[in-house]
Amino acid sequence: MSHNAKALVLHCMDFRLVDGMNLWFDDQGLTNQYDRVVVAGAVKNLVDPTQPTDIEFIERQIDISKRLHEISEVWLINHRDCGAYGKIFATPEAETERHHADLAKAKAMIEAKFGLTVKTFLATLGDNHSVTVEAV
Ligand SMILES: [Zn+2]
Repeated sequence: MSHNAKALVLHCMDFRLVDGMNLWFDDQGLTNQYDRVVVAGAVKNLVDPTQPTDIEFIERQIDISKRLHEISEVWLINHRDCGAYGKIFATPEAETERHHADLAKAKAMIEAKFGLTVKTFLATLGDNHSVTVEAV
């Protein structure tokens, strides 16, 4: 059995995401082919960390995944209504803009540091633990 994975995925720890993300990863053809890093705020830890060590923590996971499982891609997934960001957005458009900006910044950081292909996504929570995910 191969020890290689296709990708590392990073998303928020929010329990409302779990079922929907599992289904979505399957839909994307990633079943049993990804390392998963789950932390509050997802890319916020890279671009607006609460502690400076938050960046090191995420980067260490990517480094380990690359060395041990030879991943070629990193998938960064932020979500709307994220408690780690808080109720700081005046409008839904402002929230979307911030996530797009943070995802773009995190993508550039990881591409520069690791030379991996980085894909970015924004998830929206729905009813009954459903999740809609759009590429950004
Ligand atoms: Zn969240």
